[in-house]
Amino acid sequence: SYCQYLIYGVKKGIMQKLSTIFPFSRTPMRTHVRTRFAPSPTGFLHVGGLRTALYSFLFAKNQGGDFVLRIEDTDQKRLVPGAIESLISTLETVGLSCDEGFGLRNGTCEQHGNHGPYIQSERLGLYQGYANELVERKLAYHCFCSSERLAEMREIQIAAKRAPRYDRHCLSLKPSEVEARKSAGEASVIRFRIPDDRDIEFGDLIRGTVKFHTRDMDDQVIIKSDGFPTYHLAVVVDDHLMEVTHVIRGEEWLSSTPKHILIYEALGWQPTEFGHLPLLLNPDKSKLSKRQGDVAVEDYLAKGYLKEALINFVALLGWNPGKGETQEIFTLAELQEKFDLTKVNKAGAVFDIKKLDWMNAEYIKRMDTDSLFARLKKGNFLEKELIRKAPDPMQTDVFLKRVLTIEQDRLAKLSEFGEQNPFFFTDTVEYAVDLLRWKENTPALIQEALKKARAILGTLDESMWETHAELERVLLEAAGEKRGDFLWPLRVALSGAQRSPSPFDCAWVLGKNQTLKRIDKAIRICETGK
Ligand code: GLU
Repeated sequence: SYCQYLIYGVKKGIMQKLSTIFPFSRTPMRTHVRTRFAPSPTGFLHVGGLRTALYSFLFAKNQGGDFVLRIEDTDQKRLVPGAIESLISTLETVGLSCDEGFGLRNGTCEQHGNHGPYIQSERLGLYQGYANELVERKLAYHCFCSSERLAEMREIQIAAKRAPRYDRHCLSLKPSEVEARKSAGEASVIRFRIPDDRDIEFGDLIRGTVKFHTRDMDDQVIIKSDGFPTYHLAVVVDDHLMEVTHVIRGEEWLSSTPKHILIYEALGWQPTEFGHLPLLLNPDKSKLSKRQGDVAVEDYLAKGYLKEALINFVALLGWNPGKGETQEIFTLAELQEKFDLTKVNKAGAVFDIKKLDWMNAEYIKRMDTDSLFARLKKGNFLEKELIRKAPDPMQTDVFLKRVLTIEQDRLAKLSEFGEQNPFFFTDTVEYAVDLLRWKENTPALIQEALKKARAILGTLDESMWETHAELERVLLEAAGEKRGDFLWPLRVALSGAQRSPSPFDCAWVLGKNQTLKRIDKAIRICETGK
């Protein structure tokens, strides 16, 4: 990769020299890397969008460059209210704040940077200016064809088994005629004239050489009848004026790239570098879609996936640090250091939720308990019925933090907190007598074990409850050789469950009073059978 960037640098250097000798290009040569993420505010941030944003961010940071966030709202019909705020807040939540563009300050969207505005609807004049210039230079033309005419044309072409494309009906209109029809109020668009019979070839940073031919391209609309640009013109103008050097985006945009390259050429600009990311797939290799599960990043966060785990997981969807590297857990800083576009795969990347669960559990395990507890609180994961209905002492932070200490190593998602051990959140536990029995032990033996535990724990000072290591030491000592005989009934007395954390853990969480109360109940059950 170093080599590639060396070549990239040398290439840019030569171009720079050339452009000073032959000022054919209006493009200043750039060596400072700038990437951008350019979402359309049509809804929530999709996990695929998060990956695009992340790779753009990581590449820029890895190269000591800038990451720009631009909003592409040229398709006014598809705008969703609140989508901009939600996109930005999700990006910032997971740690992908931009150097330039849109950010959130005190909950409201604000733009910052020297290349603004960073939202296309505020840049309409710019696009119109360039489109008019292309018209003047005969590289674009006005088109008055109605949608009915276009539909009819398409039908005829399809019936004749030809690929549907604009028949250039308006290409040869005289400027005077165009003016007359426009002043008469007739609606028109501006189309970019795709040159005839040209191979368009470019080196994709991920896919290598990609070739297209202009025979497969339509004369693209670049300005719509409402005066808004289409994506193709806006993206080129913005990437150029915002001095973007590397466009990293999803594979679905690959076939648009030759059109963009032609627009760059027409405007006399140096195109950016391009890297098209592989598709995200479901485990059955179909395209990742909403039907098969959640695709909104905010839903994952709401379910209790940690942002660090999500970022780490998404980073590995199509990228790995290289052959022989077995590391799978990376901090954002490590990703910035290691990320390399040349190691992004061409093949689709499978979105495996099981792997995300595993990774999330790893992050939860590794986090210090106080910070994890703060996350639970902040994410409202303690606002659940199980806890709301619990007796007061079981709603305190001290109590909840103890539960977390016990559950931390087995928690896959924050939303699961407490669910495995509901008996922590009640005043009494209900269970069948038989559950107290270890192997073939008689009720008398069980009762004896419980009474012994009661005696030991009853005489222990409250202070012994401060650390659970102490309780464990004392109880293990009392258990001696026959651990099951002593510990099983104690554990069931405390949890009322077939499976639960150890009796030491349960006793520690419950505290002295509740522990003794539950043992007393178990002793009574042994006597009365209920
Ligand atoms: N606005 C486009 C999108 O929503 C951006 C495509 C690009 O990155 O060029 O995905």
